[in-house]
Amino acid sequence: MKEVIYVSLDIQRLKDKYGNLTRRYAKEEYINIQPIQRGGLLTPEAKRVLLEFGDGYSVCDYCTKGKLVNIKKPPIVDFLADVATFMGMDVVRPTAGSRMAQYVIFNVMTEKGDTVILDSTAHYTTYLAIDEAKLHHKEVPNNGYPEFKINEDDYATKIEEVKKETGTLPTLVFVTHVDYSCGNIVNVKKISKICQDYGVPLVLNGAYSVGIMPVNGKELGVDFLTASGHKSMAASGPIGLLGMQEKHSEKILEAASIKGEWSGRQFLNKESHFYGCPPVYGLPIITLMASFPRVVERSQPEAWKEEVKKVKYFVQEIERIESVKVLGKRPKEHPLIQIETPAFYEVSKTHKRKGYFLSESLRKKKVVGVFPGSSKRFKINIHGLSWEKLNAVISAFQEIARENNIPIN
Ligand SMILES: *Cc1c(COP(=O)(O)O)cnc(C)c1O
Repeated sequence: MKEVIYVSLDIQRLKDKYGNLTRRYAKEEYINIQPIQRGGLLTPEAKRVLLEFGDGYSVCDYCTKGKLVNIKKPPIVDFLADVATFMGMDVVRPTAGSRMAQYVIFNVMTEKGDTVILDSTAHYTTYLAIDEAKLHHKEVPNNGYPEFKINEDDYATKIEEVKKETGTLPTLVFVTHVDYSCGNIVNVKKISKICQDYGVPLVLNGAYSVGIMPVNGKELGVDFLTASGHKSMAASGPIGLLGMQEKHSEKILEAASIKGEWSGRQFLNKESHFYGCPPVYGLPIITLMASFPRVVERSQPEAWKEEVKKVKYFVQEIERIESVKVLGKRPKEHPLIQIETPAFYEVSKTHKRKGYFLSESLRKKKVVGVFPGSSKRFKINIHGLSWEKLNAVISAFQEIARENNIPIN
């Protein structure tokens, strides 16, 4: 007999459909090179806390102050101080991702109708945050195919343009540290020097850099630094971080000012722009904390140097396949890599699986993460792969080339 609840949902069907979810990408025997996932792969320490902290609001057992950032058990207070040191910022607040951090900054630090400057390689979330804050904007151009490179000096040109056109300086300058498309790394110091000369606050989006490479906000001279836990800090997420200089903290951390018009109720201990408590009160912040020691370790200059070495080696080996070209600035340094593969695209035209042949052939060789259906241009991420696994990935691509009569130089 079927058990049916009042909205006519068949419970057995629901159990069959949702009760046994599995995921190939998480299986031990596969190497995952998915472009947005590699930096968010959990550490063994983070995996260990999944069950105990999986329940909703699991960090709130000993919340005595009614505020997530004041919780001492688990040690969120200490963690935020340590993560501030790590990011080289005075104050850090957890958010629901780099996107929420950007949203808060643009909405709090500007007035409707202000003008801001951003790079033309920024993530869509930057554009949306600017739109939500009802701002005008000006883009710093990039040099297009195949480098898509930003010229840091153009920030000065754009600031001058805004000054000339509006009579005032832009309210904020926004820089994407590593762009999501080609993984180009921008020279932040050059831009912060320009911003300091003009006295315009600088926001740095470290979604693809904080937790992957050395990033110190103070050293770089930025006013704000955003990070993404699920993108680059080995956290299950959704979690991000908003780092700020002390001088901006009063505004950003403003207490809620509303008073119930009938009840007189107030919420003075709640930080208004963070929904009182940011929505990370369980696995998001716990996995971020559990992974933090290893994230600090892997972001040290020596560890990063080794990553860059692997990137350069990968680029050299993958480009040995006829027609294959890695896009972006050279020398390539960041493990997020966009690859153009005209020869694979040619194969797809006559292959019975069309463009799916590439992701499916890779899967047979235990490599997952190339977007299903893409064979012309796609992104991968090799961050944190051992040399052995890196070579396995290279071999997989080269073998697929050989199987399809594509020469390897
Ligand atoms: C992925 C990405 C984001 C979004 O990060 P979330 O933490 O998911 O909000 C923002 N900016 C850049 C440059 C990104 O690559």
